[in-house]
Amino acid sequence: MNYKAPRGTYDILPEDQAYWRHVIEKTRRVCELYGYEQIDVPVFEQAGLFERSVGESTDIVEKEMYTFLDRSDERMTLRPEFTAGICRAYAERKLHGRPQPLRLFTIGPAFRYERPQAGRYRQFYQIDVEVLGSQDPAVDLEVMQVAWQIYEDIGISGLSFQVNSTGCPVCRPGYLDTLRSWYAQHLGEICGDCTRRHGQNLLRLLDCKNEPCRTISEGAPRIQDSLCEECGGHFERLRSYLDDLDRPYEVNHRLVRGLDYYTKTVFEVWAAGIGAQNAVCGGGRYDGLIGMVGGPETPAIGFASGIERIILTMKQEGIEPPDTPKPSVFVAYIGDEAKEAAVVLAQELRTAGVGTAALWEDRSLKAQMKQADRTGAAFALIIGEDEVRNGVVMLRRMADSTQASIRRSEVLDAVKEGAS
Ligand code: ATP
Ligand code: MG
Repeated sequence: MNYKAPRGTYDILPEDQAYWRHVIEKTRRVCELYGYEQIDVPVFEQAGLFERSVGESTDIVEKEMYTFLDRSDERMTLRPEFTAGICRAYAERKLHGRPQPLRLFTIGPAFRYERPQAGRYRQFYQIDVEVLGSQDPAVDLEVMQVAWQIYEDIGISGLSFQVNSTGCPVCRPGYLDTLRSWYAQHLGEICGDCTRRHGQNLLRLLDCKNEPCRTISEGAPRIQDSLCEECGGHFERLRSYLDDLDRPYEVNHRLVRGLDYYTKTVFEVWAAGIGAQNAVCGGGRYDGLIGMVGGPETPAIGFASGIERIILTMKQEGIEPPDTPKPSVFVAYIGDEAKEAAVVLAQELRTAGVGTAALWEDRSLKAQMKQADRTGAAFALIIGEDEVRNGVVMLRRMADSTQASIRRSEVLDAVKEGAS
């Protein structure tokens, strides 16, 4: 039987790890730089949490969730995103009792049953950043800046923000009425999905990715013209902060989140290389969500970014991540007696914190040196019968193949010195 990785999943092989490491390290550093603390939530949660918080009429809940009955017949779902779990933790662990706002980030896999294609998988990794407990537009800006700085530090260029405001329960209903009557005159021209959305999730008509629907939505009434004073003021402040920082942004009236608890700011970051269909990050404000999953009414904002899409962008832009760490030393031996000495030496070096590789397997010296080259070690330490007898070791510098015999007791100092 030949087993295969499930469709839409992939293996991150050793040669790809440098990319992953680079993205994750930069993300951690930037999050810490902005004073965000790490949180981790379960990979699966009660299905109802996502149905409620992501929303019944979204693509995710309608057709993308991995939901299953566990052995006690409880309905569970592999997390399709992080916000729901973090809000659940906020309410359940009473994180609202801590000094607010709470600035959090997490990194891990998420699962959606999607049609796999470049940058779109069924198991994918997200960076997720959330601020809970503030409605200040400067916090919106800060969260957007975290995303921006992560990409910038990774080395991605050609970035731009797409921003919009989706209003609030005060101003959105009026806008929805306007939008509904406008779309009523275009029902013949929109796709089947959109016809369905017209009845249940009107805002989603605006971000349909079908070309004919996009052309139509371009002419639709714009929410900016319907914002209440508070939402309008909030959006204006955010834009002036973006101007202050000289960030390129475009007000994109088709950028929406279809649900009531999403409020005010929505944003995406686009990278020049991967285009509008593949935003590297999406986020926004959700002032109504925490109250809905059992916590106190709490304003919040966050974003999520797919690591695969960041790496795709890196590759398209030719950004090379730094090498993953290599062992400093490779221990080689000839003969049984020398092998014992080599086993002891290798362990001694590792205990002293010197990265040390070896092949074992009793291969020829040539094969061992080939392997030493492959591991990227700076030095090979070679032990034969003579070396054992004389209490010395042959130290070979891999870069130029020069070698010298040194006392066994001086090996540690020699490789430590050579490595620095
Ligand atoms: P898209 O419109 O591309 O489907 P989305 O609106 O479903 O994105 P969000 O739910 O906002 O995306 O998720 C945030 C980010 O997670 C996206 O900007 C993208 O980088 C990443 N992402 C979403 N779905 C996938 C997937 N199936 N595979 C890889 N990355 C994904
Ligand atoms: Mg999607």
